[in-house]
Amino acid sequence: MKITSINYWKEDMKLTRPYAVTYVMHDSVSNIFVKIDSNNGLYGLGAGSPSEYVTGEIMDENCQDRIPELREILVGKDVRCIAGIIDTLTARYANQPALLAALDMALHDLFCKNLGISLGKYLGSKVRRLPTSITIGLKDVRETVEEGLEYKQRDFKIIKLKIGESKELDIERCIKLREAVGNEMMIRVDANQGYSVDEFLDFIDKTRHCSLEFFEQPMTPDQVGEMMKLPGEIRELCAADENLHKTKDALSLVKMGRPFGIFNIKLMKCGGPSEAMLIANIAKTESIGLMWGCMDESIISISAALNTALACSSTQYLDLDGSLDLASDIVKGGFELNEGVLYPLLDQPGLGVELL
Ligand SMILES: [Mg+2]
Repeated sequence: MKITSINYWKEDMKLTRPYAVTYVMHDSVSNIFVKIDSNNGLYGLGAGSPSEYVTGEIMDENCQDRIPELREILVGKDVRCIAGIIDTLTARYANQPALLAALDMALHDLFCKNLGISLGKYLGSKVRRLPTSITIGLKDVRETVEEGLEYKQRDFKIIKLKIGESKELDIERCIKLREAVGNEMMIRVDANQGYSVDEFLDFIDKTRHCSLEFFEQPMTPDQVGEMMKLPGEIRELCAADENLHKTKDALSLVKMGRPFGIFNIKLMKCGGPSEAMLIANIAKTESIGLMWGCMDESIISISAALNTALACSSTQYLDLDGSLDLASDIVKGGFELNEGVLYPLLDQPGLGVELL
């Protein structure tokens, strides 16, 4: 089952709901796409969201320029030897995790289609179902409440609230959001490195009655030593995002003595399902809970993340809302969303996506 050709291109996709993260407004998103064809008529699809800020890589200005080297690595290879091909790609694209993630998932899509099973069945579904959170960006109190009520009406069960801009405003938003949506919705928060130790402790204190589920990345990655000074029960409720990209980061967090009780794995940070499974194995060994996050991404990479997440027994939290705000995509399928729960399409081969 030989690879015969590879396509690699970029698409700009409009967002239905522009948002701000730490003062920067986003109203559209660029994703890269990969299509790998094989000599038995099957193809695999991958998508990636390179970002200098998150994945540390510059998006290829002209994707055509990279195709010759991708062709050289992939064309003629037998996709049944997927592990060896991914080893080669991992060494080559160590500093381009979103590109690597797109290639890794496209190979997995093709590999599983060749087997006639879904990626979820191939990796083994250990977790049956989980709700995803849906994100409210940095907004004022009124907009925060309005959006929260909208998500409640749309049957979402968990809100992820972006905070970290102004502590007092954050506290007010949490309190008003909790009052508005009632106690049956979960609220988790992501400070995106915005707090000092004292601000974080004060925030926790003043929102205690809001029953916040957990706290994502309260401080900057270089303040991980400060994290270690926090009480253990608080650290257990903190998720590492900017502090955790690849396996080596997971190992160094473990060696430090557990500054975070939760790891937020994103395929775009780590380089795809293969590396994600390595991080998940470390988390499992250390009894660290897993959260699976994303950026603004195509259904293709959300499906890859969902199938990988549900294959890991330490998975506790999903934050895979990245395709829900896209005004367009290049595929349909991938998963079903019902009452806030994401269901992978386990009876469809590969990632379960279909080109539009
Ligand atoms: Mg985050």
